[in-house]
Amino acid sequence: MSAGLIDLHTHTTHSDGSDAPGELVEAASLNGARAIAITDHDTVGAFPEARSAAERFGVEFVPGIEISAEFASGTMHILGYCVDEASPGFQDKLDKLKEAREERNPRIAERLQSLGVDVGYDEVAQLSGNEVVGRPHFARMMVEKGYVASIQEAFDRFLKKGAPAYVEKARLSPGDSIALIHGAKGVAVLAHPYQLKLSSAEQADVLVAELAELGLDGIEAIYSRHSSAERALYAELARRHQLLVSGGSDYHGTYKPDISIVRGLGDLEVHYELLAAIKDRAANRANSVRVFQVEHVFHAAELDND
Ligand code: AMP
Ligand code: ZN
Ligand code: FE
Ligand code: FE
Repeated sequence: MSAGLIDLHTHTTHSDGSDAPGELVEAASLNGARAIAITDHDTVGAFPEARSAAERFGVEFVPGIEISAEFASGTMHILGYCVDEASPGFQDKLDKLKEAREERNPRIAERLQSLGVDVGYDEVAQLSGNEVVGRPHFARMMVEKGYVASIQEAFDRFLKKGAPAYVEKARLSPGDSIALIHGAKGVAVLAHPYQLKLSSAEQADVLVAELAELGLDGIEAIYSRHSSAERALYAELARRHQLLVSGGSDYHGTYKPDISIVRGLGDLEVHYELLAAIKDRAANRANSVRVFQVEHVFHAAELDND
């Protein structure tokens, strides 16, 4: 049985969403989800609450993560699915990414101040809940203080890449982002490829080939803000490069008020089959790691006998 809608891209209050994990899982269940992934930026803090809510609501929980990778022109995010948060070194690496945010964030506040927008970093951090502070929290504070009418206006006028209060943060390379996810036994998927701002299908093909070479497992072809042409293009690219297809809404609650969980802008349909293939890939990866470890033990035992 593989019917059922799912959503493999959502954010909670642990990063820049407005729903607590339990609320988000409940909202997914109300919208008919059979499975739900939480993919907060740089944190797995939502997992314990999400797991118990998922059990309560009879929804399958998929532990996920979203990592921002270095990419010159547009925005490259890599999603990780079925990550094991107890993997050695995983939390430490996520902590490093949070530190990179803490370097950047006060500088965004300084830029805003110099532009006449009186928003302080401390108040933004407080509003965010203090775990992972992101640009949407700055945007929310700017709305609350009346500098802009919407979060989108805050991004368009101040916070988006190239806008006057945009400040770079240290990121992992695409290869290291994929390795971070694989190191946690996860499946690495290129998020919302339209945000790469590539100029042609040929360019997309070259980039996907490079990422596949680095170990990328899949592409988020089905995405709220992808047109049907984009969904078809990226699904075809995945097929050509023997990658999995993924899909999700990128639900952020009130931070992206036009996007509903599971249904995106209204026409989103992500089916359970895609998750089944992702879980197979993760299970095969975990098995090959186990075989490798068993072989290691075996060799060590042989050496002891020598
Ligand atoms: P950060 O990780 O703090 O740099 O913030 C990235 C988040 O800000 C993304 O995941 C989106 O939720 C949001 N975001 C980035 N660019 C835009 C944009 N142009 N318009 C609206 N939201 C955006
Ligand atoms: Zn976000
Ligand atoms: Fe993203
Ligand atoms: Fe996201």
